[in-house]
Amino acid sequence: MKEVWKKFDENELTHSSAHHLMAIFELLKTKGYARGIDVAKHLGITRGSVAITLKQLKKKGLISEDENKFFQLSQPGKDLVNTVLSKRHILIKFLKEVLQLSPMNAEIDACKIEHLISQEMGEKLLMFMGFFMSDRMEVKEFKAGFKEFTFACQSTETCQVCETECFYSGKTEQDIIQME
Ligand SMILES: [Zn+2]
Ligand SMILES: [Zn+2]
Repeated sequence: MKEVWKKFDENELTHSSAHHLMAIFELLKTKGYARGIDVAKHLGITRGSVAITLKQLKKKGLISEDENKFFQLSQPGKDLVNTVLSKRHILIKFLKEVLQLSPMNAEIDACKIEHLISQEMGEKLLMFMGFFMSDRMEVKEFKAGFKEFTFACQSTETCQVCETECFYSGKTEQDIIQME
């Protein structure tokens, strides 16, 4: 498990690639075509950097380009976009409805991990949300109880949730990096 993050960088879709694919998907839907310049405009980045990423996506067989430099998503490309988008929507729902994040933070955090979570996590989240949004009696009770519940870490010795590191300091990564 230690090496998971490394493998990930090597093999999986980068966040940037995922957004390039989603940009092509969006453009095809709204404009009916997608060229390099359209993708660059859509993502707000340079044409040069878009060209590099699109070349890689072509090599992976996720997109194709015709003689007029118009891009299309291949079937695997479409499937990938569909997977990432559906995970994003489930994550946003989970973060907003269950964890009660602000709509803005829910969108931002979902965007950060939409392409990283496993299929299993997507499926389990979907199942959980199906349960959570049902009108079952026990769900109503859970929601009412959770609404009134408060919890804060006190110390690592007594905390039921955290293990060796407690969340209780309330420091963000930014606070810590700035302190150094
Ligand atoms: Zn994203
Ligand atoms: Zn704790």
